[in-house]
Amino acid sequence: MDCIFCKIIDGSIPSRKIYEDKFTYAFLDIADDVDGHTLVVPKKHIRDIFDLDKLTSEHLLTAVKMISQHYVEKCGYDGVNILHASGEAAGQTVFHFHFHIIPRKTDDNINCWTNFPGRKKTLDEMLEVLKIN
Ligand code: 5GP
Ligand code: ZN
Repeated sequence: MDCIFCKIIDGSIPSRKIYEDKFTYAFLDIADDVDGHTLVVPKKHIRDIFDLDKLTSEHLLTAVKMISQHYVEKCGYDGVNILHASGEAAGQTVFHFHFHIIPRKTDDNINCWTNFPGRKKTLDEMLEVLKIN
């Protein structure tokens, strides 16, 4: 399979590894957008959240939490943003499931939230569309 993250995991493409265990691989994102931008991926090729199984999600979130805690407790950061895209419509560009961790410092002036266009429907209209049961 021609997947860039699978190639990073098997070592055929080099990466700057932050952490690895049996199920998870974490490495620095090559984008030059923000210091410490980290990607956390399952070793198993999973396309997106719709393809994600319970066990993998548990391993992955455990690693995301551990790395986030490490950044805050040992690396001088004050918080993290955790970002994710599933599906082309959501802006996913690499179709191997991943979380982005953005380490944050107080007053770093990084805006991790997009400029949303403003809500067009009422909350009750959206509740009718989205609620489960
Ligand atoms: P997405 O847009 O799918 O949420 O995120 C994909 C991320 O993968 C991007 O932030 C991009 O910079 C990163 N990326 C793409 N190719 C490579 C690569 O070869 N090495 C590393 N380290 N990151 C990559
Ligand atoms: Zn893959």
